[in-house]
Amino acid sequence: MPVLIPRSVDELVEVFQEHPAAKLLAGGTDYMVEVNLHGRKPEIMISLRQVKELSEWSMRASQSRITIGAGVPYADMEHGEIARLVPALAQAARTVGSPQIRAAGTLGGNLGTCSPAGDSLPVLAALDATIHVIGPEGTRDIEFADFMVGVKRNSLQPSEFVHSVSLPIIAGWQGYAKVGTRNAMVISTASACLVRDSDEGIVTIALGSVGPTIIRAHSAEAWLMKSASLRAGATLDPSVAEEFGRQVALESRPIDDHRSTAEYRRHAVGVLAQRLLTRSFS
Ligand SMILES: Cc1cc2nc3c(=O)[nH]c(=O)nc-3n(C[C@H](O)[C@H](O)[C@H](O)COP(=O)(O)OP(=O)(O)OC[C@H]3O[C@@H](n4cnc5c(N)ncnc54)[C@H](O)[C@@H]3O)c2cc1C
Repeated sequence: MPVLIPRSVDELVEVFQEHPAAKLLAGGTDYMVEVNLHGRKPEIMISLRQVKELSEWSMRASQSRITIGAGVPYADMEHGEIARLVPALAQAARTVGSPQIRAAGTLGGNLGTCSPAGDSLPVLAALDATIHVIGPEGTRDIEFADFMVGVKRNSLQPSEFVHSVSLPIIAGWQGYAKVGTRNAMVISTASACLVRDSDEGIVTIALGSVGPTIIRAHSAEAWLMKSASLRAGATLDPSVAEEFGRQVALESRPIDDHRSTAEYRRHAVGVLAQRLLTRSFS
């Protein structure tokens, strides 16, 4: 099977346009499982590893935004500057697979696969990330809410690829938590990312593995805004956190499958929401 190896974004655009049926390969931690275990046989692959620009990140202080290339591996998000600026992304990255998977697996690959269990995705949803994509028609920006359209389905068009993701730098608290069948090397049965912007007095929460897409619990967010002060220095009544967890659970749409029952998932995501909100005030 031929593997094309572009060395720049321009070359990538060109070869992907010439071969729209080609399969993109970043770290290969999802796709090579498809090839080796599930019999996928792509006619042509395009390796992204030599496109240096995809593995870069940058910070625009004037706009308080960080832009992270699609090819940045989890290992680079776990510690250092990205972890300092987007701590919830670092927490999510640390829960992914093993060190080997985190060295190879990328943000772009998580978005390409678009599983409801993808650990980076609730973080992107809670932070209202913008996905920058490039294709034959040029560049376009897709809000995360419009990017994921179903189980393992995204809104990329033929020959389009994820170039990078940009996220706001929030003054306040953010955290990610996940529940699985064991402590490590596990796909989540429920996950959540909560962001408390204490300048704006806003909390956002996004849920993973409890619906066909990542779910933003908008009703629970709105209820919380009316029920508690979320600004810096405020305190939280434990009964508010408990009710918030209950309301978040109501917005989940889990199913029974080999990893968990829907009932357990709904319960777990409510507990995660309650704990994350409580932590954001401690
Ligand atoms: C043992 C093991 C444990 C795992 N544990 C976890 C876990 O805990 N949490 C988790 O979320 N995931 C987990 N995964 C899944 C996987 O590691 C992640 O989804 C990872 O982010 C995939 O990234 P990748 O670079 O390896 O993607 P690839 O396998 O290279 O690609 C995945 C898909 O994305 C597409 N793609 C890649 N880059 C782009 C791009 N720039 N633009 C558009 N499409 C693109 C590919 O064509 C392919 O369809 C695990 C996998 C394994 C094998």
